[in-house]
Amino acid sequence: MSVPTPADVAAAAERIRPYICHTPLKPSRSLSAHTGVRVFLKLESMQPTGSFKLRGATNALLSLAPDEQARGVVTCSSGNHGRAVAYVAQQLGVPAAIFLSELVPQVKVAAIRELGAEAVVAGADFAQADLAAHRFAEEHGRVYVHPYDDPHVIAGQGTLGLEILADLPEVDVVIVPLSGGGLLGGVALAIKAAKPGVRMIGVSMERGPSMALSLEQGRIVSVVEEPTLADALSGDVGFDNRYTFPLVRDLIDDVALLSEEEIAAGMVHALLTERLVLEGAGATPLALLLSRPELAQGRTVVAVCTGDNVTMSVLLELATRRTP
Ligand SMILES: *Cc1c(COP(=O)(O)O)cnc(C)c1O
Repeated sequence: MSVPTPADVAAAAERIRPYICHTPLKPSRSLSAHTGVRVFLKLESMQPTGSFKLRGATNALLSLAPDEQARGVVTCSSGNHGRAVAYVAQQLGVPAAIFLSELVPQVKVAAIRELGAEAVVAGADFAQADLAAHRFAEEHGRVYVHPYDDPHVIAGQGTLGLEILADLPEVDVVIVPLSGGGLLGGVALAIKAAKPGVRMIGVSMERGPSMALSLEQGRIVSVVEEPTLADALSGDVGFDNRYTFPLVRDLIDDVALLSEEEIAAGMVHALLTERLVLEGAGATPLALLLSRPELAQGRTVVAVCTGDNVTMSVLLELATRRTP
């Protein structure tokens, strides 16, 4: 496979259109008042699987040859990519096995099983589960669909950037959560091809930010995976990375890290003020605007709310603790 291009993002948008939602951009009164600039929330949490991961997974599965589809797919995931693969696989009649580590929340494992995919919990962290996934793919002659370092996945995620450009041509800052970088890479590819001046800000958690540390050191570094509210952002970039590290390195303008407290504040603000259910990772752009409003240097800012797959009791407890 070759390096993804803006043309690949445009092709992906056509290919996946029947399977995904063109999500709304909701103006945020609270964050616009807080920052002094116009803030819009891109509600990817409204995708049928509760996250943008459906875009990349759909593009990847639709790009397989018929014999590959017949043999089935394997993946490893922090949860949302697995759920997305399971959902598309069910629609296309493709067998799917999803490998997950013990750190993946139970809600995410259950949602994958509900879609009829095989969910295998294997290993203490992503790296261990991923090893098992690759072994399984080899043994069963199945295609491994990488959660981010795959040109079809990157191009699929980029389609949400095209929607932002179409709905809000005056956008000048886009804030996205950053983990493996499939999302930031794809969105930046799509947006900067049309509007090179748009600033792309990536946001990760302080607990194990593999991509942020790798960017800082100019080479891929490994981190210890720790429990975090932003569980969808955990895991390594991977020493065998081919696409997302160079793409993110070349296209990102700024990267910020958040504490668990700040992520919690973002989730609670989303729920109580915006009336939005967001998981920790999905609330990080909003959390960043709350804690560092000065980073919104522009006039029109989009915060991508990437997912809603949160354990409800966790979210409600955070909200109760913080409600006067
Ligand atoms: C996967 C995921 C991200 C990060 O995407 P990458 O392509 O790995 O950088 C952000 N938010 C949510 C909810 C996710 O599931």
